[in-house]
Amino acid sequence: MEERYNSFAGWCRRTYGRHLYRVALDAGMTCPNRDGTIDSRGCAFCAGGSGDFAIRYEGQKLGKEDLRYTGQKGREGDYIAYFQAYSNTYAPAAKLYTLYKGALSDPLFAGISVATRPDCFSPEIYDVLKGLKEEFPQKFIWIELGLQSMHEASAERMRRGYRTEVFAECVRHLHELDLPVIAHIIIGLPDEDLNSHLETVRFLNETGISGIKIHLLHFLKGTDFGREYEAGNIRELGMDEYVDTVCECLAVLDPETVIHRLTGDGSGELLLGPQWSKDKKRVLNAIRHEMKVKGYVQGCRYEKE
Ligand code: SF4
Repeated sequence: MEERYNSFAGWCRRTYGRHLYRVALDAGMTCPNRDGTIDSRGCAFCAGGSGDFAIRYEGQKLGKEDLRYTGQKGREGDYIAYFQAYSNTYAPAAKLYTLYKGALSDPLFAGISVATRPDCFSPEIYDVLKGLKEEFPQKFIWIELGLQSMHEASAERMRRGYRTEVFAECVRHLHELDLPVIAHIIIGLPDEDLNSHLETVRFLNETGISGIKIHLLHFLKGTDFGREYEAGNIRELGMDEYVDTVCECLAVLDPETVIHRLTGDGSGELLLGPQWSKDKKRVLNAIRHEMKVKGYVQGCRYEKE
């Protein structure tokens, strides 16, 4: 590993001989936590599932000119179609087939990455994914699942709307189809401490995920956690505490797990705090420095079950 952790950039170079860039797509989805199926208020931290530069996508062919607002500089075949906005398996299987097939057929993309919830799958959707994997053997299909925490009390506090066992079961199904899973977790959830986060990482080790995105809890305008933060009921993490927690999590994480992200993007004008998180470069440098100071590499405290 060129770095002290198994970075996405390093893994891309080793696996594909080049960097791959995510292109955020908005396929017009919603999620069961917003449309009233489970709740209508959304998760307590979520201000909406769409990225700043998400391209509206209905399965059409995209060209380099469509990416000009993303600032990405790859060549054809260097991109990942990232179905990012809301829950991207929350639609009829036939619609999902059209969307995913559109991106997998597009020479712009090396593969697709589908962000969703583990309770938004059905046998028909698993069949679609299985079929597309056979139809496009030269392309990859990754599934990104928002776990945030393995602790049920935290899941209830953030109004996640499904039990942790649902996540584990979904990962098992996806692995049966040989589909890699990238899990999202959040550091700094209310009532969680270092040990809570380490337990979440150890739980993920057991599930055998391929990749992880580690996010800082951002307090955003218009969210319930944002309101609690403004009322002084939830404290924000300091940068040193975040950096230390991330390093400890990396130490127990399976060394094979690819790190897709080590900080979150707190949507600019919506961010109430922590303000230090705006300087992503500084945070990443601090994590690298702290790993070195501690003498850590990813997985140095990993315990194989
Ligand atoms: S985090 Fe995802 S599941 Fe939760 S409200 Fe936002 S889009 Fe829906």
